Amino acid sequence: MKLKNYIAGQWVEPESGRYHQDIDPGNGEVVAEVPASSPRDAERAIEAARDAYDRWRKYPAPKRGEILFRVGQILQERKHELAQKMTREMGKVYTEAAGDVQEGIDMAFYMAGEGRRSFGYTTPSELPDKFAMATRDAIGVAGIITPWNFPMAIPTWKIFPALVCGNTVVFKPASETPLLAYELVHILEEAGVPAGVVNLVFGSGAEVGETFLQDPRVNLISFTGSNETGRHVAKVAGERLKRVSLELGGKNAIIVMDDADLDLAIDGILWSAFGTSGQRCTACSRLIVHEHIYEELEARLAARIRQLKLGHGLEDATDVGPLINEKAVQKVEQYVEIGQQEGARLVVGGHRPTEAALQRGHYFAPTLFGDVRPDMRIATEEIFGPVLSMIRVKDLDEAIEVNNRVTYGLSSSIFTRDVNRAFRAIRDLATGIVYINAGTIGAEIHLPFGGTRGTGNGHREAGTAALDFFSEWKAVYVDYSGRLQRAQIDA
Ligand code: NAP
Repeated sequence: MKLKNYIAGQWVEPESGRYHQDIDPGNGEVVAEVPASSPRDAERAIEAARDAYDRWRKYPAPKRGEILFRVGQILQERKHELAQKMTREMGKVYTEAAGDVQEGIDMAFYMAGEGRRSFGYTTPSELPDKFAMATRDAIGVAGIITPWNFPMAIPTWKIFPALVCGNTVVFKPASETPLLAYELVHILEEAGVPAGVVNLVFGSGAEVGETFLQDPRVNLISFTGSNETGRHVAKVAGERLKRVSLELGGKNAIIVMDDADLDLAIDGILWSAFGTSGQRCTACSRLIVHEHIYEELEARLAARIRQLKLGHGLEDATDVGPLINEKAVQKVEQYVEIGQQEGARLVVGGHRPTEAALQRGHYFAPTLFGDVRPDMRIATEEIFGPVLSMIRVKDLDEAIEVNNRVTYGLSSSIFTRDVNRAFRAIRDLATGIVYINAGTIGAEIHLPFGGTRGTGNGHREAGTAALDFFSEWKAVYVDYSGRLQRAQIDA
């Protein structure tokens, strides 16, 4: 299958004439040939989005919402097939891939509704015979740059609110997951998004992404990815005074107190640490455990980890799929080495699997480290793989301090049966998302999503919070007194 760019309503070959291969990380098979576009392709897409902007921003918002509603319906009809494609393209097991598509469906219906809400507000004026209100305006061309780990959900979190607010879009998906982006844009086209309103350009961050950051016709950048790239995005786009939203890495922790339901906690830990092979921004990579139950939890957890079955995500028996590529496996290997050098105790895993059937993919055994100190590199740096570090603490205060110590602030969780401890944790855990008696993953699309501190720059995605990023507030004053009234001066 050979993919094309989508520019001004046309599926077109890249001007560069270059292609690269999209590979199944589970078995090395080629999934698609993908344009390696040049900056010129990106510029043509920006031009198309700029040309379409004025018409689209004036297109009634409820009608924009109706198109998104149709997008949701098509996604629903094609959920199974899209999830299969996702598993082939990026490796996550089928049920999780279906959940990823479901997030897109939920977001489509939610943002379709915003077409008839997008509430502003009215408020009294301090002057007589004067009316005051605040409304939401579109901003312009939205540059959407996404990572590979949620190939459907993350693009929809960005593109749908951008569209319902009246912006046009230029979209550069991660080079590792072009196929799902291609399918999504086909669906937008089928649902009736007019030509030029959404434009898709495949290619590298250095060529296509960089052009979005630098081109003055792109008004805002919505970026999800690593901290390293995020800092670069903030610098280049920030210098040009673009509005920039950054959703970056995580080093999320689950706290398990001595009064916790351990069966429940273990289920939550396994799901959070090894789901998507640990390649979720909200994945749990630190386990902060009360000293009274540390030994018991470690032993029970290790036994469950040993039972996890590695394999291709389309095989029914698979619990944990592959990592995205060889580089990711090497990174995990390096951290396993670093952990051991730092004095952490390797409890389970720590190696590539030896089974012949897994040699063609990028697999790594689910790994548990014990006796990890909170300041070790494996406990502070994002590994983005199936590696979990257990840290022993003496009480809740220490657990919260350890949780908050890292530079990231995306998600955290606590297992406890004590309501007082739960509420203290809600108040004191310094992350954008907090779970009580559930793992660190499982965000729902109608609540704000994002992190504090090093995880981003303060914006939130999803829910109504997304509208605040993709629209501009306009304050409107209507004076019907028939005379000059001076605010702050006339009584
Ligand atoms: P990445 O390497 O930073 O890439 C993210 C996107 O940025 C890709 O589309 C990439 O293109 C593009 N890019 C690279 N260089 C660029 C440049 N100079 N200018 C503009 N764009 C550029 O991240 P990733 O490996 O795909 O994703 C994993 C990271 O994302 C992890 O750190 C994870 O925690 C984070 N993440 C965060 C959230 C959240 O909501 N907080 C959610 C999911 C993932 P190429 O693919 O072509 O390199």
